[in-house]
Amino acid sequence: MNRRLAGALLLCGLSVTAVTTPQAYLKLGVLTPNGVVGIRWTRLIQYFVTNRDVNGVTAPQLQATMARVFGTWGSVPGVALTHGFTGFTVSEPFVADGINVVGFRARPDLERTLAAATFEIDNRTGQIIESDIFFNTAFLWSISAAGQSPRYDLESVGLHEVGHLLGLGHSGLGETEVRPEGGRRVLAKRAVMFPIAYPAGNIEDRTLEADDRAGIGDIYASGAVSAGLGSIGGRVTLNGTGFFGAHVTALNTRTGELVGGFTLNNNGDFAIGHLAPGVYVVRAEPLDDADVTSYFDEKTTVNINFKPAYYSSLVAVPRGGSGPRIEIKVVSK
Ligand SMILES: [Zn+2]
Repeated sequence: MNRRLAGALLLCGLSVTAVTTPQAYLKLGVLTPNGVVGIRWTRLIQYFVTNRDVNGVTAPQLQATMARVFGTWGSVPGVALTHGFTGFTVSEPFVADGINVVGFRARPDLERTLAAATFEIDNRTGQIIESDIFFNTAFLWSISAAGQSPRYDLESVGLHEVGHLLGLGHSGLGETEVRPEGGRRVLAKRAVMFPIAYPAGNIEDRTLEADDRAGIGDIYASGAVSAGLGSIGGRVTLNGTGFFGAHVTALNTRTGELVGGFTLNNNGDFAIGHLAPGVYVVRAEPLDDADVTSYFDEKTTVNINFKPAYYSSLVAVPRGGSGPRIEIKVVSK
């Protein structure tokens, strides 16, 4: 079994990814004897909630928020999640006890982590056996419908964490700047699964974006839904050689929806799936230096020394398949 921590937010320092399959987004994966397998739930997700009221949120309010959050992910077309609240418990999240626990804990030592998810994974199959989520009471929390600064929105952060619990890694669709007082501030983002949270009081992450829907659909959607969608595949090269860790984005020219992925092997291969049929602008860009460990662990070599580049033409995504493979050529910074 394999225990790991999917960090979250504010500045989510903790990285997740062990290994990833060369497919879209960042899905969490494990290396099995038969190669890399994406992690996923294959049975009912039953969860307990730690019976502890904190400043601003009671245990039943946390439970109601989690029910909404599971419902939001489960409302993505074709995604049939089976989940159920089991009961309140004295158990704490982050204890490997065989049950899924969501709760508040005081972790002032994790001064930039709003919340995080852990996993126990069956290394032979990639099946998730247990996942816990904790919210850090070193921060103030709110369930107010309109948000309530300086409190962080429990539903927004919960939606991100349950994304991890379901098997998603971080999305690269966001821009940040360094704050004078330390940490980073979000300037814009287009995915709930971007590793850095909006400021306290903001509730925009209660709503999934195209990138989040594509990611969860890629793991769980039924074949019928997938058959109506398409993908873009190809590679990113620097002086003719592929490389790991380029961030690749696909912009739908009709809807403006944006979905991202990464090159996930040393050949520079990427694939962005679960795209609505249409015409896309495709771009490769380096990850932000400060954020690399939010996506890949420290042992992974990620090339960030290249200039962003667009693919030379628009890319058509057909229904139920992919167009010709494309090569995006980038040059060094
Ligand atoms: Zn996260």
